[in-house]
Amino acid sequence: MAEKGTLLPQRGLAWPGLARPSPARRGVGLSRERAIFEFLSKCVVTMSELKQAIADVPDFPRPGILFRDISPLLRDHFDATVQALDALLTQQEWRDIDALAGIESRGFILGAALSIRRNKGFVLVRKQGKLPPPVVDVAYDLEYGSGVLEMQRGQGRLLLIDDVLATGGTMTAAADLCERAGYDLRALAVLIDLKLVPTYSWRNLPLRAAIHY
Ligand code: AMP
Repeated sequence: MAEKGTLLPQRGLAWPGLARPSPARRGVGLSRERAIFEFLSKCVVTMSELKQAIADVPDFPRPGILFRDISPLLRDHFDATVQALDALLTQQEWRDIDALAGIESRGFILGAALSIRRNKGFVLVRKQGKLPPPVVDVAYDLEYGSGVLEMQRGQGRLLLIDDVLATGGTMTAAADLCERAGYDLRALAVLIDLKLVPTYSWRNLPLRAAIHY
C-alpha cells in the first residue's frame, strides 16, 4: 500500500543514462552520479505532494461541505496518482482481478486509467437512466435525499473504485450492486478516505485508500 513519503515517478522524464548528451554537454565533466541525482530529484512526487495538490473548497456543493477537489491533482500528477492506486493491491491480488468497476463519474476517470495500466476490463456503475436496459439497480440514501445506481449484468472478479469515501453509502450501494449484477467483488479502493467512517469495510473486504484525512 502506498504510504506518505512514497516516491512516485513523474511523467515525461528520461533516465539520464539513456539520453545521448547534447554537443554542448559533451566533455563538460558532469559525473554520471550527479546526473542521476539531478534526475531523481526532478522525477519524484511524494504522497504528501499528491495530497497538497487536492484543493479544499468550503461550502461546496452545499453549505457545510468541505469539498476535496481532485481536478488540480489530475492536471498536475495524473501518472503518479494512478501509480499510487496501483500500489494498493499486491501483484498477486492484481492477477486475481478481471476488471475494474468505476462509480460515476470521477470513479470512471481513475478506474479507466488504472484498467489500461493493468490491462483489465472496465465496468460502469452509473446513475439512474444513463445505461440502456437490461440493468439491475440499487437505491441508497445520500446525505440529503436518495439516489439510484445501475449496472449491466456480467461475470468476473472486480475491483470497485471511486474517488472519495465519505459516509460510505455510495460504496456500499455500488458493492451490493456489483454482487446483484453477478460479479465477484474482490477489492474496494478509493483515492481519498475522508475517515468519516473509522474503518470502512464491505462484507470482509477492507477499503484501500491512497490518501487519508
Ligand atoms: P459517500 O456516499 O458519503 O461516501 O460519498 C461519496 C461520494 O460522494 C463520492 O462519489 C464522492 O465523489 C462524493 N463526495 C462526498 N463527499 C465529498 C467531499 N467532501 N469531497 C469530494 N467528493 C465527495
